[in-house]
Amino acid sequence: MRIVLVGPPGAGKGTQAAFLAKNLSIPHISTGDLFRANISQGTELGKQAKAYMDAGNLVPDEVTIGMAKDRMAQSDAVNGFLLDGFPRNVSQAESLDEALKADDVKLDAVLDLEVPEDEVVKRIAGRRVCRNESSHVFHVTYSPPKREGVCDVCGGELYQRGDDSEDTVRKRLEVYHTQTEPIIDYYRAQGLVVTISALGKVDEVTKRAMDALKGDK
Ligand code: AMP
Repeated sequence: MRIVLVGPPGAGKGTQAAFLAKNLSIPHISTGDLFRANISQGTELGKQAKAYMDAGNLVPDEVTIGMAKDRMAQSDAVNGFLLDGFPRNVSQAESLDEALKADDVKLDAVLDLEVPEDEVVKRIAGRRVCRNESSHVFHVTYSPPKREGVCDVCGGELYQRGDDSEDTVRKRLEVYHTQTEPIIDYYRAQGLVVTISALGKVDEVTKRAMDALKGDK
């Protein structure tokens, strides 16, 4: 299956993507994770992306689209993938369509995770992410780790993403509304959008998502 996951920052895209990709046996491709890996490895691409990310803005399409296409061209993604955080504007969605068309394949679904705005701000402000694996996500109040600052799953160090500060979150939400939300209409016109609520326990949301993808909503 070829799936695109959309939703505001804090909707739980990374967490859900990891479970869904495992259930569906397809790779989880997160452009945010690819940028963060480039930043920690000190690559030129990482240097270009960092200032945009720290400010809560989108990294320019010239950088992002090539990076996403390179990842999708790897052998593990031949039979499907779950895209998390890409496309993030209509021009990226159009580029993705062209790339898929060139390979004579199509998207199967666009899963839209819905969550109220006040919930988003609460989720992000307390979010702590594992340095080893970004889908190991905790929350200081809602799902605290057993030992403060330590990942329950792998023992990695938990940290607060630089772009999870309140000011940057507001900017990311604004960017989401103005640039990313229009892709939902773009894909709705292709009959691809399935919307589910991202509220509730992680496993409940995963089940809802799997049911929606199977078509028995
Ligand atoms: P995420 O981990 O998906 O929340 O992404 C973190 C940040 O990486 C975003 O706020 C953007 O600055 C950047 N980013 C991730 N994916 C994209 C994309 N498809 N286009 C532009 N910027 C992106």
